[in-house]
Amino acid sequence: MISVNDYNTGFNIDKQTLKRLKNMSGILIDQLNSVPIYFVKKETIDEYEISMCLKRECVKEFVAGYWRDDEWWFMREDEEKTKNLMSRLGKCLNNCDTIACYVSQGDAICNEPHILVAQEKITYRNKNQFEDTLIAVLLHELTHSYFSSKINKGDISSHIIEESLCEAYAFSRFDNVENIFGFMTDQRRPPEYTAFKFWSEISRKTQLIFPMIEWKKKNEIGLMLSIFPDNYQFYFRHFLNAHNLSALAKVILLFS
Ligand SMILES: [Zn+2]
Repeated sequence: MISVNDYNTGFNIDKQTLKRLKNMSGILIDQLNSVPIYFVKKETIDEYEISMCLKRECVKEFVAGYWRDDEWWFMREDEEKTKNLMSRLGKCLNNCDTIACYVSQGDAICNEPHILVAQEKITYRNKNQFEDTLIAVLLHELTHSYFSSKINKGDISSHIIEESLCEAYAFSRFDNVENIFGFMTDQRRPPEYTAFKFWSEISRKTQLIFPMIEWKKKNEIGLMLSIFPDNYQFYFRHFLNAHNLSALAKVILLFS
């Protein structure tokens, strides 16, 4: 049963929007039926959830440096270089303005995993934009739940891969993207979100569900193979490379 609750906002999702969310949920239908959603005031989400995200200006510099220092794609990764790059990227992390979040453990609001949404942070010109954006935000959070995310907050590569995948899945569920495209590509949003375009490119070659299943299993090699299904060269070259995730994260950022 879908559980949508107003915690302290006076807002209630209308039946039509809920029906659309259900129809668009795809593989997230079990999550939608089991993870309670709470609408909360913006002050409440700020109090409960301090999430970190990357600063765009800082990432721009990082990416520019990456183009200069490094060879394109996954070539010639070495441990020292990767470590340096990742610690540079770590300096780009900052507190971010959270619209919604998936809370993987119980808290004072709900004693099981749940989703918090501060819908007043979504302010758009017309009703359809609000409704579509709210659906996109909820699909994003439900995707975190699908991955049963307990990402280590210090693990930047996983953070980039997961945020961009959640956003990509949300985007992929819209037949008509007119009302959400502006929001999803808004350059004021963190780059790991707008980098969902990486997965849109990939999904021309493979279905998005394949990397999602591998990510859910936390199967790194499977994830890489799902991106390059026919490229066995890639498989052999990188089978023993421990830096696959950071290499992938860097490439994803190029699409931000
Ligand atoms: Zn997220």
